[in-house]
Amino acid sequence: MITLSLTEIAAIVGGQPHDIPDPAVTVDGPVVIDSREVEHGSLFVALPGERTDGHDFARRAVDAGAAAVLAARPVGVPAIVVDDVEAALGALARAVVQRLGATLVALTGSAGKTSTKDLIAQLLERKGPTVWTPGSFNNELGLPLTALRATGETRHLVLEMGARGIGHIRYLTGLTPPRIGLVLNVGTAHIGEFGSREAIAQAKGELVEALPAAAEGGVAVLNADDPLVRAMSARTEARVLLFGEAADADVRGENVRLTEDGRPAFALHTPTGCSDVTLRLYGEHHVSNALAAAAVAHELGMSVTEIAVALSEAGTLSRWRMEVTERPDGVTVVNDAYNANPESMRAALRALAAMGKASRAGGGRTWAVLGQMAELGDASLAEHDAVGRLAVRLNVSKLVAVGGREASWLQLGAYNEGSWGEESVHVSDAQAAVDLLRSELRPGDVVLVKASRSVGLEKVALALLENS
Ligand code: ATP
Ligand code: MG
Repeated sequence: MITLSLTEIAAIVGGQPHDIPDPAVTVDGPVVIDSREVEHGSLFVALPGERTDGHDFARRAVDAGAAAVLAARPVGVPAIVVDDVEAALGALARAVVQRLGATLVALTGSAGKTSTKDLIAQLLERKGPTVWTPGSFNNELGLPLTALRATGETRHLVLEMGARGIGHIRYLTGLTPPRIGLVLNVGTAHIGEFGSREAIAQAKGELVEALPAAAEGGVAVLNADDPLVRAMSARTEARVLLFGEAADADVRGENVRLTEDGRPAFALHTPTGCSDVTLRLYGEHHVSNALAAAAVAHELGMSVTEIAVALSEAGTLSRWRMEVTERPDGVTVVNDAYNANPESMRAALRALAAMGKASRAGGGRTWAVLGQMAELGDASLAEHDAVGRLAVRLNVSKLVAVGGREASWLQLGAYNEGSWGEESVHVSDAQAAVDLLRSELRPGDVVLVKASRSVGLEKVALALLENS
């Protein structure tokens, strides 16, 4: 974090100093909520947890080098005491980002936030020091803690924002107000909590409402291919930059295809020119993510060539998203078990089919090990059936449907489309899938593992890669 004295911090958060012998002492280390991460000069934020209370670790944090503790009560060591620690953390983040010279980029959407945030970070890193949220650390704690990692050197701060309901993104943009706001898509994720896609759009669109006006540099980066996102241009004073495959997109992908080994490729057009891109990431849904990242990079001054090179070299930074590993025995495991929705299921299956083409020549087979796509409401049966059918149409060799009712719908789809009997198997849980695959897999096979987060299907992929 930028260096601030305890007096300055107390003033920013409206707190009372307690047990502070020297108020001129500064915080110049990381701001942390876990006492094990304290470094010299840290500010330790004592949060009440579900099982443990951060205040119990205040002394340990100071012994480990923390300059002070941000706390809700005096703790017997140097502390700034406030009524609401979480709110104080937010206020501190907001004050700090205002003092930074960095551009804040925030993004939201139903699917692909973390993948796109990782792509943006890898692009912007090439222009200057960049700080981004690790993993999906995208809520009212993760965002301030990330913002507070920025220093005077930081040029870009890339922030993933998750919306759990109306007003949530508005609150987050208040903590860390972005100049560039990107909305990826409005899908069906969390539709149970929101009620409808329109309500999801309402919540995500709060990001563009919070942007500065065009004259002050505000830029809304919107998906031209998603009508609900495109419509958000009416909700912002910021300049609108469109990305996508639509003809009028400012940053456009043309001739989108999968290469022989299953990687998405396309011609990238930006206002500075055109260049070919082949992604290292698998799954065509990453084309949209890559175009979104390209639009942000373009806005921050990167040329089409710089962007194309950086995109072609960008890998995964967050785990279990189309992670491709080849075992020494020649079995390839594609771990996409982080999450699933109908669009990404289809994209993953198409990537599997493309990767399988090469291996099929040598006798290898493709295995789709799939579990439930959660939160689909009334559409659930039809969507699972459609995925089962697609597996048949794409010539996947074997479908292993894992879990309960939804898995039987996957299998039913395969049966109805291609009279699949032996080609599809329904197993009750991850362990059963592992047992089956361990006995069946042979060199040249490609195995895709994918389901919604709640299924925890990464267990299958990890077990297949153990000791390999
Ligand atoms: P979370 O809400 O859990 O933080 P997220 O929005 O950050 O999710 P990612 O972690 O990037 O999303 O991706 C989660 C899953 O969504 C991936 O495994 C992939 O299957 C799918 N996905 C990624 N990008 C897209 C996209 N553009 N369209 C549809 N699905 C996508
Ligand atoms: Mg995420």
